[in-house]
Amino acid sequence: MGLNGDRPTPARTTMNAPVDPKKLIKGGLYDWEVIVGMEIHAQVSSRAKLFSGASTEFGGEPNDHVSLVDAAMPGMLPVINAECVAQAVRTGLGLKAKINLRSVFDRKNYFYPDLPQGYQISQYKDPIVGEGEVLVDMADGSSITVGIERLHLEQDAGKSLHDQDPLRSFVDLNRSGVALMEIVSRPDLRSSEEARAYVTKLRTILRYLGTCDGDMEKGSLRADVNVSVRRPGEPLGTRCEIKNVNSIRFIGQAIETEARRQIAILEDGGTIDQETRLFDPGKGETRSMRSKEEAHDYRYFPDPDLLPLEFDQAYVDALAEGLPELPDAKKARFVKAFGLSPYDAGVLVAERASADYYEAVAKGRDGKAAANWVINELFGRLNKEGLAIEATPVSAEQLGAIVDLIGEGVISGKIAKDLFEIVWTEGGDPRAIVESRGMKQVTDTGAIEAAIDRIIADNPDKVAQAKEKPTLLGWFVGQTMKATGGKANPAAVNALLKAKLGIA
Ligand code: MN
Repeated sequence: MGLNGDRPTPARTTMNAPVDPKKLIKGGLYDWEVIVGMEIHAQVSSRAKLFSGASTEFGGEPNDHVSLVDAAMPGMLPVINAECVAQAVRTGLGLKAKINLRSVFDRKNYFYPDLPQGYQISQYKDPIVGEGEVLVDMADGSSITVGIERLHLEQDAGKSLHDQDPLRSFVDLNRSGVALMEIVSRPDLRSSEEARAYVTKLRTILRYLGTCDGDMEKGSLRADVNVSVRRPGEPLGTRCEIKNVNSIRFIGQAIETEARRQIAILEDGGTIDQETRLFDPGKGETRSMRSKEEAHDYRYFPDPDLLPLEFDQAYVDALAEGLPELPDAKKARFVKAFGLSPYDAGVLVAERASADYYEAVAKGRDGKAAANWVINELFGRLNKEGLAIEATPVSAEQLGAIVDLIGEGVISGKIAKDLFEIVWTEGGDPRAIVESRGMKQVTDTGAIEAAIDRIIADNPDKVAQAKEKPTLLGWFVGQTMKATGGKANPAAVNALLKAKLGIA
């Protein structure tokens, strides 16, 4: 949780923005606006934990990756992992946020069996990263800016295992002490769709930066979702926090479900209790976990084992130097350099590996043709097989050769799809395959003419109709392509048919 029960300060950007009627939820009596803010816990990509040298590797036997520090043995002292600090600063820079040269680690005290210290080392009043923002593109082409309130570093807890034994519970401390970045947004989101798009974009940025792998199935990215509703123009309603939602689809479902629950209560004359709730995707409901803690419940105080974290601007500047090109910049460059639509460019930059692949295909070629092949054929096929871009059997070089062969008029677009299929299943050099299998487009008008003459001779009724109904040309084109095994040059076929049928 962010500032833990304090109402987030109003957003700078959208809190008083006009309400878009399309985003309102229809209740039984009124229209309602849903207000969403998120606290994302993102696991820092690092080899060792935040304050110990134990491995952060996923999996392993329970309690394989636990140092004496992680197990909170008496007298053990935390030592900050410099790489985790660098990763948090990189992330802050990627979120266009203020980097705080001095931050403080605090103890957040609570009792839970998977928390051996009895407190979590976190940051409270002085986080490492302050205000920033994320630009989020929506499917309809619009975009919203979501304010970031802060990012702080903290330790993850262990895990209680309740399903190993009928009578006893066990604790696995492998995750205990793993570094997390808690990224707190402003309550700037106004629909489940915006919330999903925000998490998707944040995940993309983290993956580009290499600061979090974004793997939600392994728990590397978890969302706490704050939801409230109000009638447009009214003050903010009481919010509920839905804890630990672990997929983007569930985030959307949890918001819809929780908003409708609150609307039903309010329209019935009731009030919302501020509380922490759990989303049950199986039952499609949220249910109460506990009443919401306030910050003072945690008795925060600076951890006496750790000095304030201090670094200078030169350190930040050096990290900024090493940042990769981020998705917004890459998208703008693709639009400009390759003449792509913002939508296509957005699809291509969603993953760094996809963007790199596209760029390798597009370089020195028709950027739009390359985008069509990457998005429609390659991504389509990868999706169908459930493969990631890294596992593509068709390399950028091979796809580039296919695009070249079409551009040179050696093969038609239709034959190119067959060729893509051959390269996908068998591999090989596309140019050599076209040669050896006789896939070259027939541009020899003599051969095409012969085929057309035969079709005209066999179908006198259709020839007569075509003069009245020029759309019948399509039928003749189809027949000619069939007769030539799909290899006839379509432009030549069209021209010859029009001439022979007397269609203007
Ligand atoms: Mn937290």
